[in-house]
Amino acid sequence: MMLTKEQIIALAQESLDESRLNNFSAIGYPKEKIWAGLDAGFAAGDDPLFAFCRRDIGDFYWSPAEAFRQIYPESRAGDSDLTVLSLCFYMAAPIKKEQNEQKDRPGLRWGYARNSWEPLIQDFSRRLTDKLSISGLRAAAVDLAPDLAWQESPKYGKAANWSQRHTAYIAGLGTFGLCDGLIGRHGKAARYTSVILETVLEPDKRPYKHYTDWCLFYQNGSCGVCRQVCPAGAIGEQGHDKDKCSAYLLKICEDFDHPALTPRRSSWCGLCQGRVPCQNGIPEGIPNDVR
Ligand code: SF4
Ligand code: SF4
Repeated sequence: MMLTKEQIIALAQESLDESRLNNFSAIGYPKEKIWAGLDAGFAAGDDPLFAFCRRDIGDFYWSPAEAFRQIYPESRAGDSDLTVLSLCFYMAAPIKKEQNEQKDRPGLRWGYARNSWEPLIQDFSRRLTDKLSISGLRAAAVDLAPDLAWQESPKYGKAANWSQRHTAYIAGLGTFGLCDGLIGRHGKAARYTSVILETVLEPDKRPYKHYTDWCLFYQNGSCGVCRQVCPAGAIGEQGHDKDKCSAYLLKICEDFDHPALTPRRSSWCGLCQGRVPCQNGIPEGIPNDVR
């Protein structure tokens, strides 16, 4: 049976709905969801932008076929035999409301959403790839790849074998902002994953022309609100200073103390995703012909 894109998206939504981890029980809000919903985009496995990412980021960066072989090592599929599904998980409103009230530390909901991401996305990825497999479609979730790790990019410093945000850009889900975050149709308060599908599906059209089209600063020189809200001074006219940002994240990880948070499992801050015009969607003022 050949699954359609709509059927695949429905299975992804079902996997999120079934997850017992998509709530704030651990911090006392069992009825509140962390991730309000999903957005999805499909890219051709042989889209030239995947090869561009490898040239630009470093030789360690995986092609879709290499990412697929992480789960199916015997596979002989080439990039052109595959489709890359990018999934956006956007945050529920109460997390954003709480985050918007913070000044130099993230809200507890935000901290927990970030801290619980890895177990949640692995659980989601297993559910989805099992469902696809039962429906006759082999799929490799990048978040289950055994060798997924940080590497050193000659051009960008710390970078992983696979970038979820670059993949989302290629699949038509959003463009980068001044702070480096991806601005999607549901805004910047979101996280991404990718699943490589062993089938050829029609890729989604990218509505934008440039990789920063949905950021007001790059579009017309206005905004820059993310610069003002960053407590570390890590965002400037030249963009995001990863070293300053990382140093700040490390510092607040040490003193953000709550029994439900695993210290240093992951970094959290995200203040540049609060109180900004791109928090909940493509900001007002972005021209219609690129949105
Ligand atoms: S806050 Fe403004 S400048 Fe910063 S990423 Fe969003 S749109 Fe761009
Ligand atoms: S995550 Fe925090 S420290 Fe890093 S750029 Fe955003 S606001 Fe600044």
